[in-house]
Amino acid sequence: MTQKWVGRFAPTPSGPLHFGSLVAALGSYLIARQRQGQWLLRIEDIDPPREMPGAAQDILSTLEAFGFEWDGPVTYQSQRTAAYEQALDLLHSKSLVYQCDCSRKIVIERNDGVYDKYCRNRDLIDIGDSAIRIKFDPTFAKFNDEIFGHCEFNQQVFCQDFVVRRRDGLFAYQLAVVVDDIDFGINHIVRGADILDSTPRQNFLYHCFDKSAPSYFHLPLVTDESGHKYSKSKFFPAVEPAKACEWILKAYIHLGQKPPETDQIDKPDELLNWAVSNFELNKISKQPIAYPTDRGGEITT
Ligand SMILES: [Zn+2]
Repeated sequence: MTQKWVGRFAPTPSGPLHFGSLVAALGSYLIARQRQGQWLLRIEDIDPPREMPGAAQDILSTLEAFGFEWDGPVTYQSQRTAAYEQALDLLHSKSLVYQCDCSRKIVIERNDGVYDKYCRNRDLIDIGDSAIRIKFDPTFAKFNDEIFGHCEFNQQVFCQDFVVRRRDGLFAYQLAVVVDDIDFGINHIVRGADILDSTPRQNFLYHCFDKSAPSYFHLPLVTDESGHKYSKSKFFPAVEPAKACEWILKAYIHLGQKPPETDQIDKPDELLNWAVSNFELNKISKQPIAYPTDRGGEITT
């Protein structure tokens, strides 16, 4: 029996839906729908300081105006704390995590900002003011991506014992994402290549939870006109619901696809339906043209 395809789109409500997010929404939607799969929606509001009031609602109404239809209720990471606590307890019970009270400044002074496992064997007690790190296994530094092919990351930079609960008590993005994707049965992850270098850490977490990792499809990054990456979401233009078809077409072309030859399709839901039937996965760029190499990642295709 083939497994039912379950995909998702998981925007962070740090501002209105921008073009980079629209590309991820469209790519994940078309790939899932073409396989009669489910497409779930999750708001990644786990980091209150990064959020913009009203952005989550704004993103949802924009997606609706663009004709996207998601399956089931929208989930919010802010309501999933109990699940993350439970996951952290499990990691504790397997002795995979430890307390760390090193400040960022100290880690920079001691080892140029790369965490040196200093607290691994200090057996610090949790008194609520330290971070929790996981004992990362560097054999997870490589994985196969359905679009980028074989990806391998600089072990020094990407294979540190990473933080799963922050010093301020908030759960780290990596932990929350994996726990959510496991709990909601996500088996295919389609998202922007800006998260490519998080994948080794996430795959390690799947391993810690005795789950098999999903398959990954990382979509080409969006760059500005001169080929520079958009490093912060605030530089992305927000998409306009009044021009939904125009924006969908731009995102569709970014995914390497050929637009319809007719201009008769002028409603976003009709355009999406057309795109579901015409989308070709193998047209998506496999070249890491826009990948930010200054972050130490190395990709071979
Ligand atoms: Zn430490």
